[in-house]
Amino acid sequence: MTPMKNSAIVLAAGQGKRMNSKIQKQFLEVRGLPLVYYALKCFQDTSIIDEIILVTNQDAIEYCEKEIVEKYQLTKVKKIVAGGKERYDSVYAGLLACEDPKYVFIHDGARPFVDEEMLARGLKDVQRTGACVIGMPCKDTVKIANDHGEVESTPTRSKVWTIQTPQIFEYQLICDAHRSIRKKEMESITDDAMVVEHEMGIPIVLTEGSYRNIKVTTPEDILIAEAFLVH
Ligand code: C5P
Repeated sequence: MTPMKNSAIVLAAGQGKRMNSKIQKQFLEVRGLPLVYYALKCFQDTSIIDEIILVTNQDAIEYCEKEIVEKYQLTKVKKIVAGGKERYDSVYAGLLACEDPKYVFIHDGARPFVDEEMLARGLKDVQRTGACVIGMPCKDTVKIANDHGEVESTPTRSKVWTIQTPQIFEYQLICDAHRSIRKKEMESITDDAMVVEHEMGIPIVLTEGSYRNIKVTTPEDILIAEAFLVH
């Protein structure tokens, strides 16, 4: 029997329009290294992960291979595949490239501060239930707006979490969920747990991440990331 394997899918196929930069944000240099390197390095160094699938734009595959994977000897990156139009298309491309793992850790390449401790917490939770997402309790009060930009309601703050990545699933479960959702062409899916919520109706555990685990999205996030890298 082959031993149980865990895969990480690192997503780096976005356009990064909110960054206002010619270079795609996942490749912007942060303290001398391309942003996506940091997440890849975390998955490379942990014994929790056996293989990494890097999903990027078709025209960036060669760059990733030469300038990131080979240059920094990220030997667990087994495949670099082209992503799709929406994030969930890129996730699906990553899922198809996995070597039939037990669990899959789906991670935004634009989140450099994923760490081994949160991966261990996530692994424990996914083994218990089949699905968990990394996140943190929301620090701010959240308002739900109506179509006119007015406050419609205020959820109880202690019940609001902001969701980060990785989002971790039993591989077969997330593959089934994606296959069935693709038949329906659902729009506005922003994270993988939504796919499972819609399709599977199973509870998804909220696993503690960290307030550092930011997604680098707008130019000021680069400054924050640089500060975290020295402290
Ligand atoms: O757009 P957003 O910030 O939510 O993207 C989160 C992550 O998903 C980023 O790392 C981005 O590169 C990736 N992504 C992708 N394919 C897309 C859209 C986003 O791989 N079509």
